[in-house]
Amino acid sequence: MAFDIIDLHCDTMMGCYFKKVSLREFGGQINIEKLQKGGCMAQALALFLPTDGHLARDGRTPWELYKDMLSCWNKCVDESSDVLRRAYSAEDIKKNAEDGYMSALLTVEDGIGIDGKMERVDEMYEDGVRMLTLTWNWENSLGFPNSADPELHKKGLKPFGIDAVHRMNELGMIVDVSHLSEGGFWDVVRESSKPFAASHSCARALRDHQRNLTDDQLRALADKGGVVGINFCAEFLTDDKDHAFAKDVVRHLVHFRNVAGIDVLAWGSDFDGIAPNQDFKDYAGMPMILDLLSKEFTDDEIDKINHGNFLRVLSEQ
Ligand SMILES: [Zn+2]
Repeated sequence: MAFDIIDLHCDTMMGCYFKKVSLREFGGQINIEKLQKGGCMAQALALFLPTDGHLARDGRTPWELYKDMLSCWNKCVDESSDVLRRAYSAEDIKKNAEDGYMSALLTVEDGIGIDGKMERVDEMYEDGVRMLTLTWNWENSLGFPNSADPELHKKGLKPFGIDAVHRMNELGMIVDVSHLSEGGFWDVVRESSKPFAASHSCARALRDHQRNLTDDQLRALADKGGVVGINFCAEFLTDDKDHAFAKDVVRHLVHFRNVAGIDVLAWGSDFDGIAPNQDFKDYAGMPMILDLLSKEFTDDEIDKINHGNFLRVLSEQ
């Protein structure tokens, strides 16, 4: 088994945080054993800040929640230090792999905690955050989210959001446009001096959902040297929101390649943030997808999807 897959997004840490369990004990779509079975090289373990009221009702600010979840992240990684190491750069990931360790990447989903304070972007970088999803599905101080309403979907970044993109470029933190409005996406294309990512999105030409990227967006992302991590959410893959099949994941990846070239492809499972209705079940089922992938892609192309493209983006920050 080659340990060569980098997955750009999962919500597993939310599960560990709220259930108060370790990465080993967690019973979701990702845990230590499943990462090992699936062939993990590096896993982006996002701090998803569920701040819309349905989970965080205890009066903490989003920034306080971020700090609490960060403590949990550090504890979880330390508890698994026999097999998992932190990585802050492409070199770290490669070094950890050479030494026989999987890598944990710290990312944050939803810039809501920043709340208009640029010093918090710096602090997040100091905390080890190397990718930030600018918005989730709500407006925040940076910009506006994706919307089924075409007028709302056109809304762009706020002036502070544009400044934050520039600051992230200076620091070396990847700008993540998954969940962002289409207007915000084009602002990032214009304003980002570095390659950026859509960490967990699919192709809108194959499934018309506002969370997915149009062919024009895919080409622009590729032109900037960025990547899109393919999302395993049934609702984003097909019109059948109750079943996700490995063949649909591969179908979207083939579309990405045909439209925007092989250098834009990556993994963005969204495990533990999506309904568990995949025929490949969970991270341990990655070999089933790779099997199908090998019918459509060469070994060199699969290496790029698995880790090459993202390592390039991370090293170019
Ligand atoms: Zn998400």
